[in-house]
Amino acid sequence: MPAQVDAPAPPGAAPVSDIRAALGLRPIVNVSGTMTALGASIVVPEAMVAISAVLGEFVEIDDLQRRASTVIARACGAEAGFVTASCSAGITLSVAAAMTGADLAAIERLPDTGALRNEVPIQIGHMVGYGAPVEQAVRLAGARVVPVGQATEVHGYQLAGAIGLHTAAVLYVVSHHAVEYGQLTLEEVVEIAHAAGRPVLVDAASEYDIPGFLARGADLVAFSAHKFLGGPTAGIVAGRKSLVRAAFLQNRGIGRGMKVGKEGIAGAMAALEAWQRRDHAAVRARRRAALESWRNALADRPGIRAEIVPDPTGNPLERLRLAVDPAAARITAWDLADALAQGAPPVIVRDHEVELGWFQLDPCNLHPDEERVVARRLAEEIERARTAAAPLATPLSERRRRRVAALLAWPD
Ligand SMILES: *Cc1c(COP(=O)(O)O)cnc(C)c1O
Repeated sequence: MPAQVDAPAPPGAAPVSDIRAALGLRPIVNVSGTMTALGASIVVPEAMVAISAVLGEFVEIDDLQRRASTVIARACGAEAGFVTASCSAGITLSVAAAMTGADLAAIERLPDTGALRNEVPIQIGHMVGYGAPVEQAVRLAGARVVPVGQATEVHGYQLAGAIGLHTAAVLYVVSHHAVEYGQLTLEEVVEIAHAAGRPVLVDAASEYDIPGFLARGADLVAFSAHKFLGGPTAGIVAGRKSLVRAAFLQNRGIGRGMKVGKEGIAGAMAALEAWQRRDHAAVRARRRAALESWRNALADRPGIRAEIVPDPTGNPLERLRLAVDPAAARITAWDLADALAQGAPPVIVRDHEVELGWFQLDPCNLHPDEERVVARRLAEEIERARTAAAPLATPLSERRRRRVAALLAWPD
């Protein structure tokens, strides 16, 4: 049976039919966040319309990217911008830009950097993984990562000492995975890098404050189009025109294997423009209502403590942190997360900190009424654990091994 593709739904509406059934896929409910492994975001209707409209036409890609530059520049307070395949690609192309400038011969020679400046200092506490190591996105350009400081303590003199003749740029990463204390601020990094005449590149993949990073002194900033913006899989690079141009020119070199198509460019532009028009207060109020309904549904459950917590990088959003006391709840936090993911429908929670005894529920990617499904599934699994013959406490090491084994068994 051919998969049926829905017409773009009105804002926030669930699809009329579910393509997942036709593809033999589980109808997951995502309370994890905007995860690449789960299909990132529900794409906003404005982007779906733009993508459909452009797919059947020829366009001159450099002209489309010129239009994108105007839209991105306005949204980011930048001189210029362009659309990439992803934020990760944007980091690689930005690093390449800092090394080659607009030298087309040098661009074709990458990842062989020859005599180019090729070092990129990064605070060790910023060396996160987002599904792949961020420092690999740097190395892909041919650059060498220079780790700065210690995981939980970095001083300005350490960054200044790491910047030398061979430094191409300094990378600053904003992530909920980054160490949350002891790091240099963006302002400090900018001051030190600029004093040495080197640009600062910012990985702001998931950050709502689109103009903030350039306003605080960064030279280039990269975002994901498919996270908070609700765009298609793509990335956005913005900043100083000479650097943006040099990053764009990498499409004639290492960027070729990371190319974005017309649908990604048009979709990212539409998502960015829709973001600027969105009623953010109304969206936040809806999310807040979901969090409060879950918290109320979990009150008085033995061993379960639910608390609304702010986003660690300061985005204007909250999540529900659900702490599980295994003795009282008769299940560990990770076994509860796994039970939710295996049920009907599968509910995928945010569990990257689960060994601390909690997971989170992220309300940013729900179709209408899905918050009720999540509340029901939570109640079912908590009650099942409470009344089960034996408590459930899988060793964490076993869970980790099982996950790696499942990964290595793909496509079986
Ligand atoms: C998601 C993420 C990325 C990768 O973004 P893509 O657009 O999926 O490549 C990079 N850095 C951080 C901090 C992220 O959260």
